[in-house]
Amino acid sequence: MIRRIAALLSAALLLFSAAALGEEDVEIEEIVENVLLDDEGQEIPLTPEPEGSSASGGEFIPSRGSSYAPRPGENNYWTLPMDITDEAAVWEMLMQPITVVDTGKKNSEKAQTYLYREPDENSLKIGVVTCESQGVRVLETLDSGWSLVECYSSSFHDTKVEAWNLLVSGYIPTDYLKQVEPNPEMGIVVDKLTQRLYIFQEGKLLTSLLCSTGLTMWNGSKYQPYNETRSGEFLLMSKVGTLISDRLYCDMAIRFNSGDMMHEVPHVKNADGTKNYSSTEFKLGTKCSHGCIRVQRNKTPEGVNMSWIWNQLKSGSRVKFVIWEDWQGRQINIPDADTPLYYNPDKGQYYHRSSFCYMAKAVTFQPFSYGELEQEPFSKLKNCPYCTPPQREAEIQAVNEAYAEGGDHDELLTSLRQGYYEYLQNN
Ligand SMILES: [Zn+2]
Repeated sequence: MIRRIAALLSAALLLFSAAALGEEDVEIEEIVENVLLDDEGQEIPLTPEPEGSSASGGEFIPSRGSSYAPRPGENNYWTLPMDITDEAAVWEMLMQPITVVDTGKKNSEKAQTYLYREPDENSLKIGVVTCESQGVRVLETLDSGWSLVECYSSSFHDTKVEAWNLLVSGYIPTDYLKQVEPNPEMGIVVDKLTQRLYIFQEGKLLTSLLCSTGLTMWNGSKYQPYNETRSGEFLLMSKVGTLISDRLYCDMAIRFNSGDMMHEVPHVKNADGTKNYSSTEFKLGTKCSHGCIRVQRNKTPEGVNMSWIWNQLKSGSRVKFVIWEDWQGRQINIPDADTPLYYNPDKGQYYHRSSFCYMAKAVTFQPFSYGELEQEPFSKLKNCPYCTPPQREAEIQAVNEAYAEGGDHDELLTSLRQGYYEYLQNN
């Protein structure tokens, strides 16, 4: 029942401590309070919907569990099934205008504001939304100057509404809402279930990369439920550059949700000044960040890595970037047995998805098939960290088991969300 208010949160703020970053990269501007009162507005139904109430039946959509069914003709991020293989549909969604929040404050891509339970600034604050970059789904526009919107609450470690990556619906002044046309040349999807980042160009899926989103954890002194990367739709904002957190260097950071950034997989510096990725790179493809999205530095066969994204992007280019929630019950498809794979018969240690791979540029690979992967001589080959071939069936099944319907892939986060439900009940 908690699932319905799905949500997220991020942790980047912690990762990038004020000391390491300088104030500019850390601070969230003061929360904006506001405006008009209305005593006729409808109250948001906060009681969780019964299981399976999603309007799209068995399909998983970013607003699964929402009390608000897709309207007739509504075709957008919030209603599109999470199927990366439907390239045309994903592209169309990525090209749709995005509705963001603009309170008119300076520096607003780091600022946040609240969603209210009623169209009244004195009513309960039930969620947080980041200005300029975070998309909201507009559910209803009232004559009173308020609108009912839905998004994943961008609650960070220092926000008062502790709705850790929960899908919330609440009221916001209508004059804060602004429609933005996204960049027509590129769109990006991050799927928290597969821990992959997908680049779309010209209506097609260009390539996919390994990434890592946030993981709820105990840091030695406290729990960090705000590490879970907030899902939803966003615009890529400023190119921030290199962030340093403790000894971790995060190159090519691009802001997308207040303190949350997309950046290259972090490295430490060796004594001689060279970069060392050995403590972080092997974790790509699994959750492990404090909310930021870590992206691979190895080039895919299409020539794409974090540095490619960085170079493609001009500041203010407004690339739409969506993060699919890893709803409990979602499953990863096992690839077809005849899916082609490649390897180097001369002592190659990896299997590849492409006949060309930057890991072994001069090598001529031999083809085999996914169905043969557990047989000799393929059973010991490792998954290539450049060209991101599909995982082995047993690995996919382990993920699917954790995400099986009725289970809980993150019991720690679930337990840490209890406080929010008590907050709703007691106010
Ligand atoms: Zn490869």
